[in-house]
Amino acid sequence: MNLIFATHNQHKAKELKAILPEGYSLQSLTELGMHEDIPETGTTLEENALIKARYLYQHKGEACFADDTGLEVEALDGAPGVYSARYAGEEADAAANIQKLLEALGEKLDRQARFRTVIAYIDERGQEHLFEGVVKGRITITEQGSDGFGYDPVFQPEGYHQTFAQMSASEKNEISHRGKAVRQFIRFLRDQKS
Ligand code: IMP
Repeated sequence: MNLIFATHNQHKAKELKAILPEGYSLQSLTELGMHEDIPETGTTLEENALIKARYLYQHKGEACFADDTGLEVEALDGAPGVYSARYAGEEADAAANIQKLLEALGEKLDRQARFRTVIAYIDERGQEHLFEGVVKGRITITEQGSDGFGYDPVFQPEGYHQTFAQMSASEKNEISHRGKAVRQFIRFLRDQKS
């Protein structure tokens, strides 16, 4: 089964391809030759995931999905949350976002955080379905590791001494927010087929 995925983020597309079981293939927006940016104007992860999936569904008329992810930090009242990509400004890169996050937390002892991914899937009949994956953890004092992307160097999942950026891709996918959401999504697709 081929799935079309409303993202330009090649890190995400690569992670998804590694998580998908045999028999599933994936095409990102770039691979579909669609280069426009889809404005993420929602105020929740659910809204943004739906906005991206609806855009692709309207343009391709085929079943498709999108994800939206946020890092929710307890001591910052859930920030950066839905604004995680633009935390340090519209054009901010991961390094700037991480720097702002570490500054905002300073020496705070409460560093609890969670990653949350919402997947919005629109089936061939235009029906919408949402799936969620959450992983709890903490924000480290300094960046550690160089794998992964985004906030991975400062996120240490609960029960582990390494950050996501110190883990192999398969270790991260096993426990990550995105891995959990995708596995739910795949279970749903399989149930629909049987
Ligand atoms: P979005 O889902 O593309 O809007 O991502 C929101 C922000 O979270 C971006 O800054 C991403 O780099 C970051 N992000 C998304 N997924 C992950 C992840 O798995 N690890 C670390 N950062 C992530």
